[in-house]
Amino acid sequence: MSDKASDNQLAALPSELIAHFQWTERTGLKELFTALNDEGGDRLRFVGGCVRDSLLGLEPKDVDLATTLPPQEVIDCLNASGIRTEPTGIDHGTVTAIHKGDVAEVTTLRADVSTDGRRADVQFSTDWSDDALRRDFTINALYLTPDLLLYDAVAGMTDLRAGRVRFIGNPATRIREDYLRILRFFRFSARFAQEAFDLDGLTACASEKNGISILSAERIGSELARILEGPRSALALTAMGTTGVLDKIWSAPADVETILALTADGQRLDFPVALAGLWPGDQTGLADRLRLSRAQENRRSAADKARDLVRQLADESKAEVLLYQIGKQAFQDGALLSEAQKWCSWAEAKEVPVFALKGQDVLDGGGAPGPMVSAVLKEVEAAWIAEGFPSPHRQHALLKQVMDGKKK
Ligand code: ATP
Ligand code: MG
Repeated sequence: MSDKASDNQLAALPSELIAHFQWTERTGLKELFTALNDEGGDRLRFVGGCVRDSLLGLEPKDVDLATTLPPQEVIDCLNASGIRTEPTGIDHGTVTAIHKGDVAEVTTLRADVSTDGRRADVQFSTDWSDDALRRDFTINALYLTPDLLLYDAVAGMTDLRAGRVRFIGNPATRIREDYLRILRFFRFSARFAQEAFDLDGLTACASEKNGISILSAERIGSELARILEGPRSALALTAMGTTGVLDKIWSAPADVETILALTADGQRLDFPVALAGLWPGDQTGLADRLRLSRAQENRRSAADKARDLVRQLADESKAEVLLYQIGKQAFQDGALLSEAQKWCSWAEAKEVPVFALKGQDVLDGGGAPGPMVSAVLKEVEAAWIAEGFPSPHRQHALLKQVMDGKKK
């Protein structure tokens, strides 16, 4: 089958699929089309994920639009109709339109003229086939007019029906233009491949994997997050392991088996927890490698430590202390990672005890300001934990006991 974009024809959607495109009737989107399309014009089409997902009967996540108008004209036309715009990626032709509850990315048709493996110099175009050919996979290069006519220059519909994630053109050449496409191949294949991953794609990912090293930490991190949080992440990881791609992201031994076990029933994992499952232990440097946020790294490393602590739990009173010490999130993450179903359900229903006393309570009880205040609080807290977290009322009684002890 050829990927040549020779067919410029628009085809009517199969009637059974029309119902999936109700969302295209939303006022915000309709008015956007009115603002950019002159009477009967064909300057603007839906493209990418929103077309692909709707064709499969799935809820589209976001709306991408492709247009023949240059970016400045997009901004001018939209603003003239009172539609707000943000110049999100104006150099690459992308303007975000925000209108009546809808947010859509409007990108000018383009061809990528020169590429260095991570970014492209682009040339704007008015030719729909130029734009189709610069996209990554055939299933991502489907366009739909507002009248629901499909433009499919690269046989994307056939691949979508067959569940095939195929590069447009020669896979190795397309990867060398932008190495992120290696990771996108695994993400989309895990999501849409009905049978084995496309062999030509896999072979090219394996041979081009060294190029991953030139990608920015942000792009690797955010794409890996989408793989790990997405459906069938273990399937993607297994293929990434076999092709040697996973090693290029992080070279510590990867525990794909654990991810497989944790997601066996279709459960989705949060990115930091999945990371702790995939690469257990300290993993110094991983946060930089993936440009994790402080919150993500804290959750990852807390989950990693909690896994071992939950494994050692002997009884409920120990569990209660641990829950109090590390907090509910880390406890639940640790229980999940250690596959301790018992502790997962136990923590779900459990409230974390609150130690309510403050420094002021020590002063009110006659304590002198200074280091003694926090020492007393620590002592009271320890006694309260040892008693098994009795009521807040009891905290005050314990404070009195400790203070009385000090006065003697
Ligand atoms: P998702 O549901 O994940 O948003 P999507 O297909 O909309 O899927 P986006 O990353 O939002 O994916 O990109 C929108 C479209 O832009 C894609 O469908 C694809 O046609 C094109 N695209 C995005 N990134 C690349 C890339 N690195 N190389 C080539 N084409 C790309
Ligand atoms: Mg998208």
